[in-house]
Amino acid sequence: MKPLPAQGSPEEARDLRGHLQVYDLHASYGPIQALRGATLECAPGEFVAVIGPNGAGKSTLLRAILGLLPHRGEVLLDGRSLRALPTENRVRCGLALVPERRQLFDTLSVLDNLLLSGFGRGLSRPRMEERLRLVFSLFPVLAERQRALARSLSGGQQQMLAIGRALMSEPCVLLMDEPLLGLAPLIVSELLGLLRRLCVQGLSVVLVEQNARAALSVADRAYVLERGRIVQSGPARDLQADPAVQRAYLGGPPEPEASSGRES
Ligand code: ATP
Repeated sequence: MKPLPAQGSPEEARDLRGHLQVYDLHASYGPIQALRGATLECAPGEFVAVIGPNGAGKSTLLRAILGLLPHRGEVLLDGRSLRALPTENRVRCGLALVPERRQLFDTLSVLDNLLLSGFGRGLSRPRMEERLRLVFSLFPVLAERQRALARSLSGGQQQMLAIGRALMSEPCVLLMDEPLLGLAPLIVSELLGLLRRLCVQGLSVVLVEQNARAALSVADRAYVLERGRIVQSGPARDLQADPAVQRAYLGGPPEPEASSGRES
């Protein structure tokens, strides 16, 4: 992905990378079959949500895409198979994971958390500085608190740092594992708005979330994962309006639509 411009537009997004295709993914933990043939796709600049109950395999899906556990099936990025590549090379190709519960280096500063990610990716100093400027422009509070220890940040700020850290590796596809967990509603809307803006600028986002209401309110398309299989998919608006999805994941009929920033 080229450096994100400060102000993006859908036109700018067209030539960007980040087409993720996942076919028939299987993964197991010993006898537990966590993924049983999951297939999904995320186009460049698209915001895709994956919702599903506890234990459905959502985290496993992201971990398998990144090559963090043995799996069968195919993962393509911009038409190139990642199947034989270890995680490190998948990251070099443009995948980045924002893991569940953030997994920051709590006793390191905000800046060091960001720099470590850039070093891990092998960025040159100028590219690292460029990326830092980008992250600080997206999250001014991280610039203000760059010397603070990660553990001293609020939950919302820690999530911003986790996203910023992932962005340091110059991804074209951001895989996000339950980033909204435990965040106040205002912070949830702020983060979702920011992710939406990143998509407009060309980043592809795959958001795995138990907070289906929030995820569907902002995604372009969504998948429902149950017991390791995709059982439903479509435009997020259609899933929001689907009675079965409403019953299972939205706690009943939807509220009047809030402003999502989604293209109409
Ligand atoms: P949650 O929303 O609760 O995080 P999930 O949809 O992300 O759930 P996964 O964490 O992917 O689901 O788990 C899928 C299945 O694999 C579950 O049955 C879970 O108990 C099992 N599982 C996950 N991680 C492991 C592990 N390290 N060892 C053994 N079983 C695991």
